[in-house]
Amino acid sequence: MNQPIALFSLVAYLGIAFAGVASAGKNLGEAARRDYDESLGALFEYFHRNPELSFREVETAARLAEELRKAGAEVTTGVGGTGVVGMIRNGGGATVLVRADMDGLPIREQSGLAYASTRSQTGPDGSEIPVMHACGHDVHMTSLVGTAKRLIANRDHWSGTVMLVGQPAEERIGGAKAMLADGLYERFGVPDHALGLHIIASGPTGRISISDGSTAASADSIDLVVHGVVSHGAAPQNGKDAVYVAAQIVVALQSLVSRELNPLEAGVITVGSIHGGRKHNVLADEVKLEITVRADTEAVRQTLLSGIRRIARGVALTHGVAESALPTVEVVESTPPNENDPATVAIVKRAIARELGEDAFFQLKRDSMGAEDFAYFVETEDDVPGAYFAVGGTPQAVLDAAAEGGPPAPFHHSPFFKIEPLESVVTSVRAMSAAVMELLPTK
Ligand SMILES: [Zn+2]
Ligand SMILES: [Zn+2]
Repeated sequence: MNQPIALFSLVAYLGIAFAGVASAGKNLGEAARRDYDESLGALFEYFHRNPELSFREVETAARLAEELRKAGAEVTTGVGGTGVVGMIRNGGGATVLVRADMDGLPIREQSGLAYASTRSQTGPDGSEIPVMHACGHDVHMTSLVGTAKRLIANRDHWSGTVMLVGQPAEERIGGAKAMLADGLYERFGVPDHALGLHIIASGPTGRISISDGSTAASADSIDLVVHGVVSHGAAPQNGKDAVYVAAQIVVALQSLVSRELNPLEAGVITVGSIHGGRKHNVLADEVKLEITVRADTEAVRQTLLSGIRRIARGVALTHGVAESALPTVEVVESTPPNENDPATVAIVKRAIARELGEDAFFQLKRDSMGAEDFAYFVETEDDVPGAYFAVGGTPQAVLDAAAEGGPPAPFHHSPFFKIEPLESVVTSVRAMSAAVMELLPTK
């Protein structure tokens, strides 16, 4: 071994050792708890009391912007509608994006919490729509502010740029796309890593679930319209029955999942809505199907999307629908599948293990093909390596009682949804701040 290499190795070794010592010396937990007592607890309650619907997060975005500005970030509002971007520029180095979603849901809250929402917003038809933070996006925004505070307080320990993103309309899988279309990466730079978290009601507080590979499915919302020809219901030979053709399409679509996918690769097709026809004795001239399609890989997604077009067309032709009146298939909303980058996951895991302990991890059992438009931040043409993780939101004792036959912890999108905010916010702030600092070089 020659001398320079030995010296380099020693420096590298000390560098790692110092990074560990520096991190341990940051007291993220103690400081995050103090922040919670001083301001984050009240901020969480403000967000919870005042939810707003997707793309209408006007007051929410204003408050988030104000809090990020107070924390010391350079804030831009109105990115992709109501989106907020807070930049922390702290010398040379990489850029890490941290995303929090901002929207509530059209649900009337029945949680019984002292700070429950009583808010509503006016719908397009003038009706009052009750709104609730029933997915935990209030925790995400509060944690984003907490993370900004901790990163700025520890700015001597890291170097680089942090892009804090308050994203609209996650529940409509449209906000991330809107921010990118409004030039997020052109205006603020392409990040080297993108991080996101979601509170999860089925996970224990104080703990984290993070894994390589798929964390959320793709979602495509499809409007499929079957066209027929009206005639008397007693003389079907004179028309073309759109109800009959649509019914055949609904059944045939399931063959895509059961007969065309590798049985070890997941996919879902759900026809969630079907409307058509006028009356008992009139053949329908139009039936509209609303379909959601889920997949974990782009290949499966494309098999399902192209298969839906083929089956709709093929079934219609089989039943004699004219070439000029074949069904129309339109994708109206979509998000790609979200894949965690293994190298980024390894770094984030190391940081979380150091901050929260090796036993902080739990394995979240994935039991649905839920989607997340965080995927847009990573699945761009720039291909940003990302890590998206879950933070437990329900005390272990409540989960244990539920497992023993007690009342189940209310799940996301329930009017009874409630998470334990203090531990959820503190754990999120600790995990996210530690992850960002681990991804950026030490000063
Ligand atoms: Zn949700
Ligand atoms: Zn959510």
